[in-house]
Amino acid sequence: MTTTERRVDLFVIGAGSGGVRAARIAAGYGARVMVAEEYRVGGTCVIRGCVPKKLLVYAARFREAFEDAVGFGWSDTAPTFDWASLIASKDREIARLEAAYKSTLGKAGVEIVASRAVLHDDKTVRLEPSGELIRAEHILIATGATPSLGPSIPGIEHVISSNEALALDHLPARVLVQGGSYIAVEFASIFSGLGSQVSLVYRGENILRGFDDDVRQQLRMELEKRGIKVITGATVTAVEPHGKHYTAHLSCDMQVGADAVMFAIGRPPNVRGLGLETVGVKIAPNGGIAVDDFSRTSVPGIYAVGDVTNRINLTPVAIREGHAFADTVFGGKPTKVDYRCVPTAVFSEPEVGTVGLGEAQAIEEVGDVDVYKTSFRPMKATLSGRDTTVLLKLVVDAASQRVLGCHIVGEGAGEMIQLVGIAVRMGATKADFDATMAVHPTAAEELVTMRQPTLRHRRKAAE
Ligand code: NDP
Repeated sequence: MTTTERRVDLFVIGAGSGGVRAARIAAGYGARVMVAEEYRVGGTCVIRGCVPKKLLVYAARFREAFEDAVGFGWSDTAPTFDWASLIASKDREIARLEAAYKSTLGKAGVEIVASRAVLHDDKTVRLEPSGELIRAEHILIATGATPSLGPSIPGIEHVISSNEALALDHLPARVLVQGGSYIAVEFASIFSGLGSQVSLVYRGENILRGFDDDVRQQLRMELEKRGIKVITGATVTAVEPHGKHYTAHLSCDMQVGADAVMFAIGRPPNVRGLGLETVGVKIAPNGGIAVDDFSRTSVPGIYAVGDVTNRINLTPVAIREGHAFADTVFGGKPTKVDYRCVPTAVFSEPEVGTVGLGEAQAIEEVGDVDVYKTSFRPMKATLSGRDTTVLLKLVVDAASQRVLGCHIVGEGAGEMIQLVGIAVRMGATKADFDATMAVHPTAAEELVTMRQPTLRHRRKAAE
């Protein structure tokens, strides 16, 4: 029989970005905090998401750098690439980061339990498999999301997710990636940059649904220029193995040969087997744990942050939610997260950076919209000879002249959008952009030098 032995003020289930931040800040306010993690401390972002992905993105980008260098006078620029060495270096860095996370938590006085934890009742968590019960005044669920491979198809057992893609023992010569969002285009770019022949299969009309239409078109064009075969309006219906190789059968009657088949078709909230039903924690229609503005679930004393709530599934958002939770519950400072104007980047090649409303969305929301758009060959491409263009676009409310959205496709787009995001969130107008001196010569300077609208959308008759 198990007995209740230990008591804490806060029990956090899941040591990812949201859980770790909440635990550390709550401990800083003097709370006794315990955090349970069944896999590795750091969660998706650190262990098998943003960080390892970005390291592979850096690796993949050397291909273009070596190719472009020739135009700048360099020769002998065709070095060989060793996948095993990259993965080993990446694994070392992830281990270092995991240790740093553990150490930070330890120094903050948080106890880490390497165990699965589930809800036993509304004030008790059960560790598995030990069965130990921990009594907690507050419980925070921060279990993130896990990759889904979608409905079962013949040969689904041969399909990998991004988790396995980050740990393959060799670089596949031919890769098929299914999906059309962040993870799919990022991994398509990684494999392509490292030398694989890549096919990207997406069920819709064009990749990056939900992004501005010009961004979607531009990225597709740039991916294709880099040799990625983009197949839209199709899904993978079967994966047929031939030894270590595969034939993927598509709904459009095409067949694609591949040495690895990866699906990046979404990451549903990790809500299964947590005991949510037992204690009455409600699930929202989008599959995430239902929460209010303060991350409170339907059960008093139980909270949830991050991807498990399926609000905006980005690491910095989870961190803010975890921090706001700790400030609210343990710091006496009721804090809501501000979800307006969340900037985001897709680390494809080239990068996408976006903040605020896209053109179509702005027309729907405010009606009268001015669009400023430029697409040009970046200076670097003049000597490298690379066939590429950069896209910069501002979406402006015609009445107030407020910049509602900014969309960039090109080198450094992620870095640019972080900074533009400040101005857009502060409510900067087109005149504020224009009054800002350009930084020359950069690609970003075009953001402050686009004088005439490319398009004027008006609710009534056109001007
Ligand atoms: P998303 O949920 O963003 O997109 C899923 C993609 O798969 C869509 O293109 C969708 O198509 C398609 N899809 C869904 N179901 C099926 C199916 N059954 N068959 C075929 N295609 C299907 O998933 P991701 O995996 O790309 O990313 C998960 C989350 O991780 C995102 O919310 C993102 O915010 C986050 N992320 C952020 C990154 C960043 O900030 N750079 C990087 C990586 C991930 P459709 O468009 O038609 O629905």
